[in-house]
Amino acid sequence: MLRKENVHFRKTNKNTVVKRVREVYLRNDIPCLSTQCPKEPPCHEAVKVESSLLSAEQNDYLIPDYSVALRYVELLEQEELTNIIFTETILQRLQSEDKSRTYKSLRQVAKDPRRRSVVFSNEHCKETNVLREPEESIEHRDWRALVQTAAWYRRHLHGSANIILLSEEFKQEDVLRIDDTTGITVMSLKEYLTKFWPKTAVLHELLASLKEAILEEDLENQTQSSTTSKKTSGGTGYQEYKPLSELEAGVKSERFFQGVMRVRANHRDQAFIRGDANIGEIVIVGSEHRNRAVHGDVVVVELLSKSSWVAPSTHISYNPEEVHAAAEDEEESSSRVRTREVKPTGRVVGIMSRNWQPYVATLQEGSEQEAGSFHLVLPLNPIIPKIRIRHHDAKVLANQRIVVRIDSWPVNSQYPNGHYVRSIGPAHDLDTEISAILIEHGISVSQTTQGFSEGSLKEMPVNTPERPWIADPAELSRRRDLRNHTIFSIDPPNCQDIDDAISIKEIGNGQIEFGVHIADVSYFVRENSLTDLEARARGTTVYLSDRRFDMLPKVLSEQLCSLRHHVDRYAMSVMWTLDSEANVLTTWYGRSVIRSACEMEYEQAQGLLNGKDVVPGLDAKTCKQLKPSVVLLAKTMRKVRARRMAKGGLELESSEVKFKFKEEDGGISDILPKQPLEVHQIIEEAMVMANGYVAQRIYQGFRESAMLRHHPPPIESHFKMLLRAAESKGFSIDTTSNLALANSLRECAAKSENDIEFIKLLKTMATMAMSEASYISSGSFEVSKYAHYGLALDFYTHFTSPIRRYADLVVHRQLMSCLLGSTPQTTDNSSDFLKNGLKMEQVAGHLNYKNRESKLAQKDSTELFQTLYVLQKTRNPAAIENGGDDPEAEDLPFMETGIVSEIRENGFFVFVPRFGIRGPVYLKEKSGEISIPLSALKQSGAAAAAAGGNDHLVTISGCEMDTDLMTQISVKVPPQALGSHAASLPNISTLVQFRLFDKVKVALRLKKSLAHRHTIYMTLIGLDHQSTATASSGTGKAGSGRGATPIKGHSGRLFKKAGEQLKQDEVKRIAQQDPSLAPLQQRDLIQGIQEGQQQQKKGGKNSRKQQQAADPEEVYYQSRPESSLYNLIESFDRFRIVESNESPS
Ligand SMILES: [Zn+2]
Repeated sequence: MLRKENVHFRKTNKNTVVKRVREVYLRNDIPCLSTQCPKEPPCHEAVKVESSLLSAEQNDYLIPDYSVALRYVELLEQEELTNIIFTETILQRLQSEDKSRTYKSLRQVAKDPRRRSVVFSNEHCKETNVLREPEESIEHRDWRALVQTAAWYRRHLHGSANIILLSEEFKQEDVLRIDDTTGITVMSLKEYLTKFWPKTAVLHELLASLKEAILEEDLENQTQSSTTSKKTSGGTGYQEYKPLSELEAGVKSERFFQGVMRVRANHRDQAFIRGDANIGEIVIVGSEHRNRAVHGDVVVVELLSKSSWVAPSTHISYNPEEVHAAAEDEEESSSRVRTREVKPTGRVVGIMSRNWQPYVATLQEGSEQEAGSFHLVLPLNPIIPKIRIRHHDAKVLANQRIVVRIDSWPVNSQYPNGHYVRSIGPAHDLDTEISAILIEHGISVSQTTQGFSEGSLKEMPVNTPERPWIADPAELSRRRDLRNHTIFSIDPPNCQDIDDAISIKEIGNGQIEFGVHIADVSYFVRENSLTDLEARARGTTVYLSDRRFDMLPKVLSEQLCSLRHHVDRYAMSVMWTLDSEANVLTTWYGRSVIRSACEMEYEQAQGLLNGKDVVPGLDAKTCKQLKPSVVLLAKTMRKVRARRMAKGGLELESSEVKFKFKEEDGGISDILPKQPLEVHQIIEEAMVMANGYVAQRIYQGFRESAMLRHHPPPIESHFKMLLRAAESKGFSIDTTSNLALANSLRECAAKSENDIEFIKLLKTMATMAMSEASYISSGSFEVSKYAHYGLALDFYTHFTSPIRRYADLVVHRQLMSCLLGSTPQTTDNSSDFLKNGLKMEQVAGHLNYKNRESKLAQKDSTELFQTLYVLQKTRNPAAIENGGDDPEAEDLPFMETGIVSEIRENGFFVFVPRFGIRGPVYLKEKSGEISIPLSALKQSGAAAAAAGGNDHLVTISGCEMDTDLMTQISVKVPPQALGSHAASLPNISTLVQFRLFDKVKVALRLKKSLAHRHTIYMTLIGLDHQSTATASSGTGKAGSGRGATPIKGHSGRLFKKAGEQLKQDEVKRIAQQDPSLAPLQQRDLIQGIQEGQQQQKKGGKNSRKQQQAADPEEVYYQSRPESSLYNLIESFDRFRIVESNESPS
């Protein structure tokens, strides 16, 4: 080995230049990392490096120089560009010049296996190391190093690859003077794109935009250096960041605090960081104190003096778009208890790292008319500040959704500087908005075309009408043949990607043979194949309200892997022998071949379970064959489930809705709440059982690297909100363990049978308090940490959905590897990847991220369709004729009953279960004015409104308000506020109380916006029980209108008492005291009991899976990333197919 000294000059923060001498050990075994390597074995195998490899199919390799890497990194990030060789030369220089973001971006490209790009250690390679000549500039030396590298690749690969040096500074003649130039071409980015991507407009647009941004930056730097050396804040109120050394010292001495800055989604004026354990959360108020930090940046904060500390806001924001903005982070979503206590408050004094992303934005209205080429754009996500971009022809951007990126934020600039990347389409166009959702959640845009690369599709088996796929006889002989077993699947209607099927039969002695059969995806998708890499990158199939984006090519997901009926399919099976009490006697795992007898739908299975002999859509023979299996399955799974519940398994809630689309115009014809069926629970239990058993099995074989799924127990303090809420209804909840919690919730449910919505909300709150379930590598945690709190299982994983989740595919491979090994510990047949705990941990982290983003995209898409639905319902046909944009007053009324789900300082949130919509009701206006509609004061308010009265449009202003955060809010109406209404209507109360869980009548409305998504809000009409009371009592006597008699409070309280299992004699007693209230009492009580019974008949109110029974913990996942306490309620289950409207793409 040869030792050499490399000399580098490094510019420090203070602009002085330091000479650095680095000793380099030169080697001659640096691998080329090309699949075209002619050596035997290829040089990357000889030294065992873990890296992507340059591809063999495409033999133009790109080597960007420093001018390209530094300023056009975004272009290099575009997925069209593959086979890039990143030289050590440029990476080292990026590091030495503190360009860590750029450095990381390039590393990221090299890490993505689909990009076929590598890092080549040219500075360590004997043949490519270049010494700096006397008087030679760094730029020139580095350029020579790249040319040497290019020449080396030519030689090493025997000329089989063309090398393109990308440079904005050097030209072809700069190579001529140095080396043999055969096969080495120097191109500018413009030349390169013109030659190789002439029709890819996105790349050309991006290049033009980047060039403009660079020009701008250069101009700015020139003016700055010519005018003043010291930058001033220029009236922005921002301050220069403190030097890094001071920041680091400050954090160490606890004078400063470091953390990720999160902007509150519902109050963008407020941000916070998590300080250390002592100080807790630190609030940052206003843009001056935020000092140019953007959501997600790692910042350093200095505390303000105590007199300046503030309390986090407990108001509902008056900016409707903020109310609905997703916070997308865990901290914000935790069940934070809202209080009025002041918190440590600080200001940002430095930034450790930026978290700038591509943002979807819209040109500020009217900006395209303004002269000059600078324009402000408003990001769709309101927690991101406006961004200043340069565009030569802003008119083409008007009313478009565009993608922008932030480049810099100088201290003297009110807004960050950024640049335009590309346009995605007209704002509020459905496809545009869906694309925006995908971009905002980092879901690769190429998925909009379901784009699997040609290489990946080439790996796929052929299955066409002319050449149908048939099972290979040799493969069949290696599998357990289960084709003579009665196997069936149960899924939502029209399910295309059938992951799982079931078999069950009695085998004598009271024993049962029970099998779960899962699509054998790992047979078709080989590890590290292109399809595998693509699936790993995607992580999961993404289900949106009207379309889905598959993880695997359709030939697998809908055909060869999908367990369709009447055809042979490969499966991975788990077969148990159970005794009559459903205890497991033996377990068998292995590859099998099955032939499903029937693709059943949930409704059909439920029909058979309910005793029907024939159900719609199935012939009599099939029904006769399957009915005993379905009945036995239900009988068996009930026992298994009961045992798991007894151990503390939780039955949680999420309110799911699905959209029904009109065939004519794609409009939404209805939003349907999902009907819970017992058969959902049964399938779910079967899948939980399989997942649990497989988790244990793979852990036996992979102690250090089993892909498991855990759900840590919740943090006790997160339950505060739940406890307070339950207490307000007179219940107490024990949260000391999952079993205690499950029992408490069951008890609440039993005691308040007449209040199904209350129980739903309560369970939702319990879910919100919990941690997120996540994938882990077993080696990274102690065994005691593997447990799944919600399911009450010690081991859990995902095995049952390999068509749509990558984790399951990994688990299948690990299981196969375990089964092939002769002893449990022997895993020699498995790849390095499956055994590598560290690698598994990385994959788990990536899948957790992909999962979360996919769920958030799903939630955004539901919200989008909910707003479209409200738009449809409230759009006045007359207003459309008159030219569209009309004031809200013109909207058609859209009234619904909802439940008060969260109390805030200035109003409350209402959840409308019918549509799964949640929105704010403001009692106090931004001006401070407190008002209430006349209809809410009148005893027969809702009834009057329904009868055509407009009392809900008559506002009584000048009220007073008292809020008990979390549980109730009271509005007092002084007699003078009533004015003429007092005289004309005697039955008016002067105190209205709204409590958590009260039922209210609201009108749904839409706040329209160009730059943001439309948002739903609500206006109050009245308490819902009122109308019931009046209607049933038939008299208005109860509200005699005497002074401050709390009519509403009274009836509300009575209703709640009913929830506390009011005894019949108590009803009588109350009726004697106030006879007019008795009918309400009894009626509600009886109705409630009936509802409860009905629910039970339907198969239990706890079944939440409608479309997808196989993922019981989905509900936890949904709960985490919500912006606010009750947002979970808006979450919904994924569904594969929406009625007859399959994904158009
Ligand atoms: Zn080689």
